[in-house]
Amino acid sequence: MKILLWDIDGTILRSGHAGHRAMNAAAHAVFGLQDAFTHFDFGGRTDPWVLDRLCRQHQLEAPPARIEQFYSVYVESLRRELHTPGAFVCAGVRETLAHFQTTPDIALGLLTGNILAGARAKLEHFGLWEHFPFGAFADDSGERNHLGPIALERARRHLNRTDLRPTDLVVIGDTPHDIACARAVGAHAVATATGGSTYEELAAHNPDLLVRDFADPAPFQAFIRGLR
Ligand SMILES: [Mg+2]
Repeated sequence: MKILLWDIDGTILRSGHAGHRAMNAAAHAVFGLQDAFTHFDFGGRTDPWVLDRLCRQHQLEAPPARIEQFYSVYVESLRRELHTPGAFVCAGVRETLAHFQTTPDIALGLLTGNILAGARAKLEHFGLWEHFPFGAFADDSGERNHLGPIALERARRHLNRTDLRPTDLVVIGDTPHDIACARAVGAHAVATATGGSTYEELAAHNPDLLVRDFADPAPFQAFIRGLR
């Protein structure tokens, strides 16, 4: 059994900066800041990490009620912003997910720096949410490297397979942070150059498989077959 754990932004889809705009809207509504995140690089980070950075940068207090308010404005705004034409599913991903959905001994899950509600908004927008019955989200930890073990535990519970090991996990992402997160739990690392990092930048971090995108499904499918 192999568990494919997908990152969202830059890997499954590009939000066309909808995420940035929704974060800006939340920072404006809750903290009165204008264009707070315009120059922020979110790539491979988690939502709580980003919010924490913002609070430190502006010396803001963020008790739980304000954080909740922040995310509530964010998700509401995100659902609206995704309708702008810049958002799209990365090449070949829809077909790749459909392929593995029906492959025996393969399960699909999420390992993402998005909070669950944000992940759901993005994936529902493109009709992809149903592919992912479990996952680890930024609500679980703001540290991406802590999400691997949580995803493993969720997979064990969801599939009722206590024998699953870290080497049964394949972490798929678009930044060196995703590769580091795979290494932290002992999973295989697949990198795709469809997001914030170039092919060469990703190659320097030695993923187990590196693709330019999933438009050609063969290399990724062969890699997964080779693990089983
Ligand atoms: Mg990403």
